[in-house]
Amino acid sequence: MNQHTQLWTDLGLDVPLHEKLVDSLGARYGEIIMSQKNRPRGMGYFDEAVHESHGGRIQEIVDAKRQGAKMIGTFCIYVPDELILAANAIPVALCGGTAFSIPYAEKMFPRDICPLVKSTLGLAFSKTCPFAPIKDMAVGETTCDAKKKTWDILSQRVNFHVIEIPQKKTEQGKSLWLQEVRAFRDRIEKLTGNTIEYGVLKDKIRLMNRKRLLLKQLNELRMLPEPPISGKDALVVMQVALFDEPERFCTKLEVLIHELQERVKNNVSPFTPGAARFLVAGSPSVMGNWKVHHIVETSGGAVVCDESCTGTRYFEHLVDEGGGTVDEQIEALAERYFSIDCSCFTPNTERIDHIVELVKNYHVDAVVQYILQYCHTYNIEAVRVSGALKKAGIPSIVIETDYGEEDEGQLRTRIEALLESVKG
Ligand code: SF4
Ligand code: SF4
Repeated sequence: MNQHTQLWTDLGLDVPLHEKLVDSLGARYGEIIMSQKNRPRGMGYFDEAVHESHGGRIQEIVDAKRQGAKMIGTFCIYVPDELILAANAIPVALCGGTAFSIPYAEKMFPRDICPLVKSTLGLAFSKTCPFAPIKDMAVGETTCDAKKKTWDILSQRVNFHVIEIPQKKTEQGKSLWLQEVRAFRDRIEKLTGNTIEYGVLKDKIRLMNRKRLLLKQLNELRMLPEPPISGKDALVVMQVALFDEPERFCTKLEVLIHELQERVKNNVSPFTPGAARFLVAGSPSVMGNWKVHHIVETSGGAVVCDESCTGTRYFEHLVDEGGGTVDEQIEALAERYFSIDCSCFTPNTERIDHIVELVKNYHVDAVVQYILQYCHTYNIEAVRVSGALKKAGIPSIVIETDYGEEDEGQLRTRIEALLESVKG
């Protein structure tokens, strides 16, 4: 019996099915992540965080709730965590990255929606997501169609708030977004019974900025000729960022960065010298999903940059810490979150330009546009991205895939061909 079995029973999970999920994720993590040679010691904390994501972290949140905290489930990086934290609530990203739960969503939902949405819903519907029963509210956003319509169904079952994301970055769009951020503040205050105070919000803005700066520092080390960390390990760090306690996360990330700096001095890298450098751009790769990074890195390539919500989109741009009132702080938050270049925006030229800039900064040899099946916005935007990369002379491919293992052979063949073209 697992040490957390009683906790899962108390939360009403389907314990035998949940144990199967944990075993399958553990086996995949072992095969893909733990099997890597020459990993930094500092990754030990992040491995443990993944291992305890359904155990120790749940217990920690349950204990905090006993002390009066609330837990808020999120599905998108547009949700300002600072406001949640400042109201004594705990934000946790609930996006699913495992194929295990998809059949449970397909019992109710159409099959032709993106695997991220199906995996997330399947975890909740199959009673294998321990976060689902402990959340006090979930927050969705109007980014893509799959999500928007999912919220209609979820909001009938659980306490739910939908944030409207404008689709154009105009002055009107900006003004709508500011109103939405204010409305979210009101909803959070109502839920928690806590008024968001200036000093507390200032601390949380600083905390999240510190987290972003550390992630930026980690990623800058990946720009070096011999990166000290694999793309798979950097992705694990990003995945943990989405659910871990932020203060502790920052402390452990500082330790890892320090070790990586030492590795740079001593020329220690997990990659063979001169390995082709890849940028993975597009849909997010959330916990349980290491597929493309694994294929690239076991084919001899190095993933040195992630242009996604589990990459640069998460940590770039800081919130201005100079606001003198809560209203000004909220304006600063709205400004920062509005700079996120998700493909739900039209036009989204800044994302295209940004990818070309990342290619230069990270000395990228080739780009894999990674599109989750049925993710129409990234898939269609891929046409413009491919055009811009071609113009910049950077080889790239577009792959559309799901969470299954069936197409791994085919993807490997395409990625190896891309690798060959870079070498040639
Ligand atoms: S890809 Fe877009 S919708 Fe998905 S998490 Fe990122 S910002 Fe949100
Ligand atoms: S990956 Fe694409 S389709 Fe799926 S939830 Fe995110 S934006 Fe929507």
